[in-house]
Amino acid sequence: MNLRIGFGIDFHQLVTDREFWLGGVRIPHSKGALGHSDADVLLHAICDAMLGAACLGDIGIHFPNTDNSYKNIDSKILLQKTVDLISKAGYSIVNIDTTLCLEEPKIKSYINKMQDAIAGIAALPQNAVSIKATTTELMGFVGRKEGLVAYATVLLETI
Ligand SMILES: [Zn+2]
Repeated sequence: MNLRIGFGIDFHQLVTDREFWLGGVRIPHSKGALGHSDADVLLHAICDAMLGAACLGDIGIHFPNTDNSYKNIDSKILLQKTVDLISKAGYSIVNIDTTLCLEEPKIKSYINKMQDAIAGIAALPQNAVSIKATTTELMGFVGRKEGLVAYATVLLETI
């Protein structure tokens, strides 16, 4: 079995007057992430981890934020396109492990929905999509609620 691991990280600012999308799910919150797309930090980190595992560059190469066709795009579409790229390159996904780093909102009750959204696109069982969350104990930009971070690792195997 030929296995390949990939890592991804993404950051977005949190601002008022934006919908808050995380893991493909809309979460009610007073702020949302700022970005060219819907700024779903978790899906972007997963895309980068998949592309990294296949050595296919990064999300900015495939879906540039200078391209107006990606303006406010649902990042689930970007994840689907990334899964398609991975598949075309001859890989299937084994599992995804992620950690979110944010102070608020509390996302525990949304994790199941996020797992389902991601697993559906990646054609995986729910227990192959791990989503963990932590805070930074009020330190730094995450602690000041100015932004959030997502980290992802993805394991691929050759088809
Ligand atoms: Zn992003």
